[in-house]
Amino acid sequence: MQFEKITPPADGQAITVSRSGKLQVPDRPVIPMMDGDGIGPDISRATRRVIDAAVEKYFTGQKKIIWFSVYAGEGALTKYTDILPADTLNAIKQYIVALKGPLTTPVGGGFRSLNVTLRQELDLYACVRPVRYFRGVGSPVKKPQLVDFVIYRENTEDVYAGIEWEKGTPEAQKVIEFLKTQMGVGKKLRDDAGVGIKPISETGSKRLVRHAIRYAMKHKRKRITLVHKGNIMKYTEGAFRNWGYEVARDEFGDETITESDVTKNHGGVVPKGKIVINDRIADSMFQQILLRPDEYDVLATPNLNGDYLSDASAAMVGGLGMAPGANMGDVYALFEATHGSAPKYANQDKVNPCSVLLSGVMMLEYMGWTKPAKAIVKAIQGAIKAKRVTYDLARQMKGGVEVKCSEFAEEIVKHLP
Ligand code: NAD
Repeated sequence: MQFEKITPPADGQAITVSRSGKLQVPDRPVIPMMDGDGIGPDISRATRRVIDAAVEKYFTGQKKIIWFSVYAGEGALTKYTDILPADTLNAIKQYIVALKGPLTTPVGGGFRSLNVTLRQELDLYACVRPVRYFRGVGSPVKKPQLVDFVIYRENTEDVYAGIEWEKGTPEAQKVIEFLKTQMGVGKKLRDDAGVGIKPISETGSKRLVRHAIRYAMKHKRKRITLVHKGNIMKYTEGAFRNWGYEVARDEFGDETITESDVTKNHGGVVPKGKIVINDRIADSMFQQILLRPDEYDVLATPNLNGDYLSDASAAMVGGLGMAPGANMGDVYALFEATHGSAPKYANQDKVNPCSVLLSGVMMLEYMGWTKPAKAIVKAIQGAIKAKRVTYDLARQMKGGVEVKCSEFAEEIVKHLP
């Protein structure tokens, strides 16, 4: 592939995906990396330092990530006129798996939303957010050590599809008129309403739940919970629930079992090796993550429920600096911090690199490089135990000593088991 203003490293190879969807990872995979804006360069540098050290240590030089700098966000404007240049999209398409720091969308008109464009262009339909607690991190809940689940949020549909009309516009009036005169919607629809559409499709729901089941199988998770508000929104959220159960039954019948089947036919004991599929109403799920987080493993959700749940869950385990994420589809996977570019801390070498670093850990797991991935998680735990951490963690910790972002990375490297 030809690039306009960047040159791919010559000493690495591309990850590929086979026809059956299996990832093939060479020993020296090229990974495009967007450092991002604001705090992005600090935390991206720290992330590469730790990942490179772990990969070197556990593969004794036989494997190595070959980083390929690509540009997006404000930072791209020094080289390009677009905040998401074609070079960057082409690099991800060529190399399949990429890592991304936080990006600033410049204020002012004329710029497309970066994250939405990336999702659409690469068809990244699953937003994956693991929520895991590290001992010693301040938490507002009593037993944060019970928290260890993964949120699988549908990324393309629901009220986020962007199909809406402002109150009083001819378009809104036309839709309201149509609904009243042709669809039997009566007085409950007011003429001065803004109107939005909530599409949830069988295709979108099934591919999300399919991805979540495969993830649960790969990562030995025991339960998948379909989170919905189907008691009220029957044909969208209720249908999401039904399609979720259908995928599990029709495509993973040997690997999954429903919660009601376990209760009715197995005396409440889950048959060995089976993943339990259950469902919960979205509002009660917020209680559940607070009261019984250990009963949940993978939460598969439509877009809006997942958005709310992700932030509430991140707060339970130490906030944004500790929250990793990925946007994934059938082919491409983009691993990224869930927070923004925090411009007030830019270039101060101050903030917590763990969000991007843990996204990098997810990337290593996805590539099958589990040894360095597991080691980095242990090393983060070790550094936190030693209480030499960035400001966000230090201020919530008795006896915590604040160190710089780069020093925290060195602490983590020191604690690699
Ligand atoms: P933000 O997430 O950048 O920062 C909010 C606050 O969270 C910061 O002031 C800081 O106190 C804390 N914080 C964030 N990351 C931290 C870290 N790693 N360690 C310690 N503390 C951390 O939110 P914002 O200030 O509203 O947004 C700034 C810019 O980021 C905006 O341009 C926004 O559009 C963009 N943004 C990008 C993404 C993305 O790229 N995925 C996501 C959200 C916001």
